[in-house]
Amino acid sequence: MPATATLEHALGALPGGYLLLDEKQRVRFASTRFYQLLHCAPLQYGQALPAGLLPDELQPALRAGHAHASQQLYAGRLLDWLVTPLPDGTMLSIREDRQSFRNLIENSPDIISRYSPQLVCLYANSALARYSPIPPALHVGLGIEERGLPAHVCDAFRHASSQVLASGKPLVFENQLNHQDKHYVFESRLFPETDEHGQIQSLLCIDRDISEEHAMRLWQADENRLLEMIANDRPMKEVMVWTCHMIESQIEGSMCSIMLLDDEGLHLRVTAGPSLPDEYKAQIDGVAIGASVGSCGTAAFTGETVIVTDIQQHPYWADFAALAELHKLRSCWSYPIKSHDGRVLGTFAIYFAHPCAPDSHSEYITLRTTHLMAIAIQQERRASQLFQLATQDSLTGLYNRRHFMTLAEEACDSTLLLSKPLCMLMFDLDHFKQVNDRYGHAAGDEALRSFARILQDSLRVQDLVCRMGGEEFAALLTDTSAEAALSAAQRICRLVAQTPVLSHGQSIALTVSIGLASCVPGQALGDMMRQADKALYEAKNAGRNRVHVAQYP
Ligand code: GH3
Ligand code: MG
Ligand code: MG
Repeated sequence: MPATATLEHALGALPGGYLLLDEKQRVRFASTRFYQLLHCAPLQYGQALPAGLLPDELQPALRAGHAHASQQLYAGRLLDWLVTPLPDGTMLSIREDRQSFRNLIENSPDIISRYSPQLVCLYANSALARYSPIPPALHVGLGIEERGLPAHVCDAFRHASSQVLASGKPLVFENQLNHQDKHYVFESRLFPETDEHGQIQSLLCIDRDISEEHAMRLWQADENRLLEMIANDRPMKEVMVWTCHMIESQIEGSMCSIMLLDDEGLHLRVTAGPSLPDEYKAQIDGVAIGASVGSCGTAAFTGETVIVTDIQQHPYWADFAALAELHKLRSCWSYPIKSHDGRVLGTFAIYFAHPCAPDSHSEYITLRTTHLMAIAIQQERRASQLFQLATQDSLTGLYNRRHFMTLAEEACDSTLLLSKPLCMLMFDLDHFKQVNDRYGHAAGDEALRSFARILQDSLRVQDLVCRMGGEEFAALLTDTSAEAALSAAQRICRLVAQTPVLSHGQSIALTVSIGLASCVPGQALGDMMRQADKALYEAKNAGRNRVHVAQYP
């Protein structure tokens, strides 16, 4: 027997699969086991190796005639490949690695299980232990109903299995499960396993825990909604309450609060905390920030995140531990909300009834939310500053003429609708040019502010008061009769004359002339203002420091 024939004979008897190639990479011999392991069609003596038959990774070693070893998953088997150079060619040996394949399955983070067509469990890997009260080995031999699974999981599995058994095709479906206070979402893949006649012998199931991806999907939808609310200028309180609910639905057992620093930056005010007890919120509202004032007071003071996993044990909570215990609050993580230039605007806090620390998901969504809150707060402040600039007189803080006209038009419309009385007062300070000339422009400004204060203090909050320009002011008194308006105007006139303006040690006497017009039903605002102006002109002509009432023909 020639040497190669002996070799082929010997190789055929070995447990591995063997392929002998000549020096030109042409097939010389393939053992029976080689065909079994690779499920390939017979190879002819002298033919070139079909493309794709062997893993690409082996090609360089085969071409160069180098020794090479590697392991590859091939058609569902884990195979050991060994390339051995021979004097006149190459030998390739293949062995199935059952043990390490089994290890791979056993240690997979996915649940891998096998079922008979009657859905009796034939095998389950150790990953199942994380999600089931019954150890994996004890699932074997049990029917689907006997394995302690919730009814909806059994139903989904039975439904998917019957489809796979009927169609012979794999199927992907989603499954949800609660275990030990946690909610799990699985992506389950079910594969039919057939014998050589194509008959389904068993079902292979791979359940992948996609809880985090699932939570992330929900989170992204929520976050988009929040961004929309911010972009649409929804009221701050509404945005913050919604944000609290959003985080509470993401983090099991959490209760959120959002507190904002007051204008002086010394105290925190509760802005939202929909799930916290009202009594508790009332107690912490207005708390002064400091180096160890609970989680939020400290976070606002230091500008750093403060994670208190057990309130009862933590020194920051020494002064509030009893209050927290009363309301069953046991842990509190607080994140400072900061402006783009690093100023603390407030805090975002998450409470729990039990001691606990954030995991990576909680940390991620909380930090993102805190960032979005910072954007929302800054946007709202900018908008309110813009609104102030657009509607207020900067010297006196009263409405400016344009905003007054807008509000006055609305007031006139609703007054007409409700047929309520309405009066317009026009004011012009007397000899104001002389005030400026005598005391200086700064003193004149002070006189204007002083007059504005008197107006605001003398009229009701529902009255509209504005500086029309220069030393001229107007007031629209809603739901006020001509008599009541006259007495208010006279009171103001007297008060101005009796209240000298103090500026840089000087006492400046000031008087005002006032024109009053009451609204005739259906009268336009402009007409009423002209009447009041006319009355003011008459008051000036009659000697100033007095009120004149417009006389309608
Ligand atoms: P009359 O009694 O007829 O109303 O006399 P008057 O001097 O008040 O009237 P006039 O309209 O001649 O002068 C108004 C003055 O108000 C002129 C202007 O210097 C002054 N004034 C207007 N706006 C301001 C302001 O913002 N600050 C100060 N300090 N003075 C102002
Ligand atoms: Mg004037
Ligand atoms: Mg004047």
